Amino acid sequence: NELKEREERLKKIIATSPDGLAITDLKGNVQYLSPQCIKMWGFNNAEEVIGRNVMEFVHPDYHTKAIHNITERMNGNLTGPAEYLVLKKDGTTFFVETNSNVLHDADNNPTGVLYFERDITGRKQAEAELIAAKEKAVESDRLKSAFLANMSHEIRTPMNGILGFAELLKEPNLTGEEQQNYIGIIEKSGERMLNIINDIISISKIEAGLMEVNWQETNINEQIEYIYSFFKPEVEGKGMQFSFKNSLPLNEAFLKTDPEKVFAILTNLVKNAIKYSEKGSIELGYNKKGGNLEIYVKDTGIGIPEAMQKAIFKRFIQADFADKMARQGAGLGLSISKAYAEMLGGNIWVESELGNLSAGNTGGSTFYFSLPYQGQKDGRKTINRL
Ligand code: ADP
Repeated sequence: NELKEREERLKKIIATSPDGLAITDLKGNVQYLSPQCIKMWGFNNAEEVIGRNVMEFVHPDYHTKAIHNITERMNGNLTGPAEYLVLKKDGTTFFVETNSNVLHDADNNPTGVLYFERDITGRKQAEAELIAAKEKAVESDRLKSAFLANMSHEIRTPMNGILGFAELLKEPNLTGEEQQNYIGIIEKSGERMLNIINDIISISKIEAGLMEVNWQETNINEQIEYIYSFFKPEVEGKGMQFSFKNSLPLNEAFLKTDPEKVFAILTNLVKNAIKYSEKGSIELGYNKKGGNLEIYVKDTGIGIPEAMQKAIFKRFIQADFADKMARQGAGLGLSISKAYAEMLGGNIWVESELGNLSAGNTGGSTFYFSLPYQGQKDGRKTINRL
């Protein structure tokens, strides 16, 4: 009776243990499986498993490790836990941490192995998240260093321009033309400085989650025309053509959006189109696609290698580092534009082709961003026009 009582107690201990318990013979054939283990491995009862080889429940990727470990345990070289991927009855997998002991008979001959199995899916998940977070932090850190190196160049160049030409202006015998020329350079350098500072402030606000969206009814035709008039002198000054195409009538071209942000995105895209094109044309426009407007800026510029077409939307990334000293820029414009497009419920992407000079083809890029479309002024959706 006492024996029975002890056995009952033992069973209870095993049944309430959060870890699963399994016993195999020396060949690895399962002789016993605790209720926890049956549940963990996805079976209904022990009979489904008894007699089968334990390797059937180890994911094939872990067979070598399992065989190696069990041999080492037999030889007494391995203590402490090991991790495996378990193959459940339904074919899904999960991670366990296994502790095992070799069992012996009264004469100290090994008879089998006792396994304690702990489901560590949660821990593995947490580990994976930690690793991802760490990688992100390392990447961030790398980008920040690149950013600082970049910034010091970006800020120093216009600063040197301002100080250097202010110094030159002190010269008493300058002609009026020379003076105007120097003042022009100082103004340009100051503008460049201001742009950089604005970009840094914007990206900091975005990163800190402090950027707010000011939703307002906005007419996209008016925005496009404004941008067009604003940049027309600069584009034409470069000997390039500039055009725009508003594909909806004025009274149907309304969006509920943040006009400042749309303006910033368009400005960035057009500035880039100018900066990265030497000749040809720039076209500005939009098309209605489903519930969105797809606004585009198309250029006949240097194009962007396919491998870089995603990366350029990340902070501080420039497609062509070798060229950057010539063209200036901190690599922030597109990441700011992307953040804005997403805040406004849209998206931003590029289609681009590199020019092939020997074949005489010019390349070119078309940047698109989408915005949810509203319709008419009071917010009524426009019924499909004929
Ligand atoms: P920046 O122009 O200040 O370097 P952006 O974030 O605006 O930063 O652009 C990132 C990179 O994407 C640029 O350095 C350039 O390599 C590439 N790029 C952007 N627009 C164009 C374009 N229209 N044509 C070719 N390359 C472009």
